[in-house]
Amino acid sequence: MSVQHVMELIDREAIAWIDFRFTDLLGRSHHITVPADEVDEETFAQGIAFDGSSLPGFCSIEESDMVMLPDPETAYIDPFTEHPTLIILCDILTPDGEVFDRDPRSIAKKAEQYLQATGIGTAAYFGPEMEFFVFDDVRYEYTQNSYMARVDSIEGHWNTGRQEEGGNLGFKVKHNGGYVPVQPVDSLHDLRSEISRLLIAAGLRVERHHHEVATAGQCEINFRYDTLVKSADNLMKYKYIVHNTARRRGKTATFMPKPIHGENGSGMHTHQSIFNGDQPLFYQKGGYGNMSELAMYYIGGILYHAPALTALTNPSTNSFKRLVPGYEAPVNLVFSKGNRSAAVRIPLAAVSPKGARIEFRTPDAAANPYLAFAAMLMAGLDGIKRKIDPRALGYGPVDKNIYELTPEEKAEICCIPASLEEALDQLEADHEFMLAGGVFSKSFLEHYIAIKREEARAVQTRIHPYEYALYYDC
Ligand code: GLN
Ligand code: MG
Ligand code: MG
Ligand code: MG
Repeated sequence: MSVQHVMELIDREAIAWIDFRFTDLLGRSHHITVPADEVDEETFAQGIAFDGSSLPGFCSIEESDMVMLPDPETAYIDPFTEHPTLIILCDILTPDGEVFDRDPRSIAKKAEQYLQATGIGTAAYFGPEMEFFVFDDVRYEYTQNSYMARVDSIEGHWNTGRQEEGGNLGFKVKHNGGYVPVQPVDSLHDLRSEISRLLIAAGLRVERHHHEVATAGQCEINFRYDTLVKSADNLMKYKYIVHNTARRRGKTATFMPKPIHGENGSGMHTHQSIFNGDQPLFYQKGGYGNMSELAMYYIGGILYHAPALTALTNPSTNSFKRLVPGYEAPVNLVFSKGNRSAAVRIPLAAVSPKGARIEFRTPDAAANPYLAFAAMLMAGLDGIKRKIDPRALGYGPVDKNIYELTPEEKAEICCIPASLEEALDQLEADHEFMLAGGVFSKSFLEHYIAIKREEARAVQTRIHPYEYALYYDC
């Protein structure tokens, strides 16, 4: 949508408010709302000033005056406001009009430019598969100094994702048996259809929705892949619409990677491919999974840098509670044609040239999509540039269930970091590939690591409810 189209839309839909949004370092949306009458073509050229000093991960007090530069392409009507409101996503600039090196969306744009500068291809496509839980209520207490989940939540007795009136009517999702049953077992069908309707109205192309494996109301709604920045923009729209549709129906949705012990967690499997113009670069009939050599090197780059990547693709202490054996989440750094326990899968063994892609299954939706997609692309491009062959480095292919390998076979395979701290150590040791073309800056990464280390420490020093179960009677 051009600026002119946005101005026409404002008139046609009698839009009263423009909601300017940006994404912080941690992947959260923020907004400042301006009366529509105050917005004109100039606004799109000059941006809107705001104070960046109070936001975690942005500025120090001395450099607090920042500018949001709206991207007209991202405009969509907010389906939740009482007054007609148009949401527009923004880049963040410094007061001098320079790109702000801590703005995740600008980093993602630089990654796209870098791809073009390498001459390898013209566009990278990203298709994230989002999973999330819907609960009736969440029982936790938050105070200044303590954050305590209720003890009765530790074994997964949160609830069943449905409110039962007038007694127990049965039709429960069985333990880890939530994969695609019909109603009345699937009590969230209407909610997912409603979310999907709103996603379509916001410009996303919804491809399907279904109940996921976990007992407690786990859902998946898929939207069509797009170029890197567009896909990350779509993901920010997606989260906003999921959270608010659930809220409107008296429910609560979470993308937290592993909310319930003993159940599948929620992933953000990310499908990726590179095109040169119309030409898909990942397909080669007869190659392993019909993948080209270039795609193999991309896989090599992803797997080789995966320990460092997890600091951006799985950036929470909770993320690493998902990446354990037995829950369809990867724990080993291998690739495979069909195997869902591998970190990299080749879906449908690349049946068509255009559909040829890799699926990196490690990421989760705690990730900031702009940073995670940019980092994955940088890892893949490094693999292509350095011809990192995953077969030569012991990353597979492994076509059997990795959870069932013998200890000797397992010893051959590299593992994903076991904790956020370990992932941050890995990123500290391995980040040159992200600095190429000035996409990420060293100061950005240092800053990011410091924030995340503090987050890990904050969790580590708090008392876990399960410690009561283990130690209360000691
Ligand atoms: N929920 C699983 C994960 O954590 C994936 C399940 C699936 O889509 N097959 O990655
Ligand atoms: Mg899926
Ligand atoms: Mg799934
Ligand atoms: Mg998948």
